[in-house]
Amino acid sequence: MPGNMKRCGMWSLSEVDRRGCRRPSTPGGRKCSVLVLGRLQKSSAARAHIENYCCIDGREGMGLLKQARTKAEGSGAVFIEEDVVALSAINGAFTAELEGGKSVATKTLILAMGISRNKLEFPGEKEFLGKGVSNCVDCDAGFYKGQDVAMVGCESGAVTGALTLLFYAKAVHLICGKLEVSGPLGERIRETAIQIHEGAVIKEIVGQSAVDEVILEAAFYARRQS
Ligand SMILES: Cc1cc2nc3c(=O)[nH]c(=O)nc-3n(C[C@H](O)[C@H](O)[C@H](O)COP(=O)(O)OP(=O)(O)OC[C@H]3O[C@@H](n4cnc5c(N)ncnc54)[C@H](O)[C@@H]3O)c2cc1C
Repeated sequence: MPGNMKRCGMWSLSEVDRRGCRRPSTPGGRKCSVLVLGRLQKSSAARAHIENYCCIDGREGMGLLKQARTKAEGSGAVFIEEDVVALSAINGAFTAELEGGKSVATKTLILAMGISRNKLEFPGEKEFLGKGVSNCVDCDAGFYKGQDVAMVGCESGAVTGALTLLFYAKAVHLICGKLEVSGPLGERIRETAIQIHEGAVIKEIVGQSAVDEVILEAAFYARRQS
């Protein structure tokens, strides 16, 4: 294994093939030790207002991403704003095919494509994301101190989230078609002040600049049973 392979995470596939990994480089031919692929604007932070992050005052996510990129570039990282369209393992190295047609080979590959949350697809969900609609209790519960909060979900994640919210919110509502937790967790939630709206789904979220109201309707299965 060439000594420089330990220092350089990425180099072009053509260089690997021709020279046995001796000349690490990006597809454009530049040497680099860290190559970052993907697009800033596709980060989940790109359109978010980041309020709750170590050592910064609240600011727009895109600004934070650009600052992070500048810092990383200052430390030698190279960015290529292209998606990986295929991955394979050849001769002990990974090969990533980029959307532009070039390929990159690397001994070390870190996958950090983010996550996408389940969408419930009711009106207002997308519009009010970050303005009263949250996807993460542990991240955002502190924003709802002293407020009325509705948690959506029927299983253990929603129930434990609703129990956490009790420490912050004035009132906690759990909206779920049919509560699907058993044992101590199921008993515990029924002993708390959480208002459980079984057989309900969210019809719409309404508000001006942030969420004002959550409008419920009966879940389909509940109507069918009645
Ligand atoms: C409204 C909102 C508010 C938030 N507020 C906060 C907050 O206050 N504090 C906080 O800490 N967090 C907050 N977050 C969460 C934060 O944005 C995420 O936790 C963070 O961005 C996750 O980083 P990541 O690197 O895992 O993924 P992401 O930032 O989502 O990045 C994923 C990257 O993967 C790339 N990618 C995907 N597929 C490919 C592919 N095939 N090839 C190449 N690249 C690919 C994309 O281009 C993208 O750049 C908030 C999120 C939202 C939506």
